[in-house]
Amino acid sequence: MKLFLLALDGLDPLLVKKWSPLLPHLRQKKWGPYQSTKEKLTPYLWASIITGLPPEEALPAVHFVVPVNPIFRWVKRNLKFLRGRGLGKLVKRRWVNKSDLAAPAIFDSFKSIVIDFPAYNWHMDFEILDKYPYSKVIGDKKRSEILFSTVRKHDREKIRMAEELLKREDNWEMFAVWIHSTDMVNHLFGKNLARVLRTYVTVDSFAKRIQRLLPDDCVMVIMSDHGGFKGVHRELGFVSVNREMELPKKIIEFYDFFLKILREPA
Ligand SMILES: [Zn+2]
Repeated sequence: MKLFLLALDGLDPLLVKKWSPLLPHLRQKKWGPYQSTKEKLTPYLWASIITGLPPEEALPAVHFVVPVNPIFRWVKRNLKFLRGRGLGKLVKRRWVNKSDLAAPAIFDSFKSIVIDFPAYNWHMDFEILDKYPYSKVIGDKKRSEILFSTVRKHDREKIRMAEELLKREDNWEMFAVWIHSTDMVNHLFGKNLARVLRTYVTVDSFAKRIQRLLPDDCVMVIMSDHGGFKGVHRELGFVSVNREMELPKKIIEFYDFFLKILREPA
């Protein structure tokens, strides 16, 4: 069977439940919460989901979202010094990607189309997050709006890209696209539940647009890596599937869940 994975960062299962009448396309046939982990940083969680390793093992040489190596550690310690001498621009930062994973991602074992996925080929939000890091933006209204609207624009582009590919490309086994605004809205505007709801309704329409275009022999999994409420991450993630099948209960079970779907005859 083909597998389409709609990855919605930080989508909270308890909020989906609370607003479920307004989110019919996120719910699908089977849906509910699963247990994510104490490790609540996005790249580790998605790295775990796509490799089957525990989050703390999936990205061994990584600190936060940039790789750790002795040179990088030295550079980080001396960044102020380097910047003071105009050398800061020589320090190339990058997002972690598939070369940092401790085991191959499931995408590499099947014919896959992967659009902007954390710890794999994440790139679209790098520039804006580098310029407007959370720590400097939270509480600053103007910068929050700039950051959020940029991330939302990227999300819309990704869904359009997925639609275009689904219309003209059939030669894939796994298709994945990652959406960031569901986590971002919680970090920036988490206390404003009406605004969080608006974002959830928007991603529900994303799910609808994808579902219209999927071939019959395709399982659609919609999931998050963790939840989020009032600005902080929650240890529960969301999962739904468009078939009658048992849902994973822990983050570590997703890899086998995907394998089972992909190995099932169409
Ligand atoms: Zn996340």
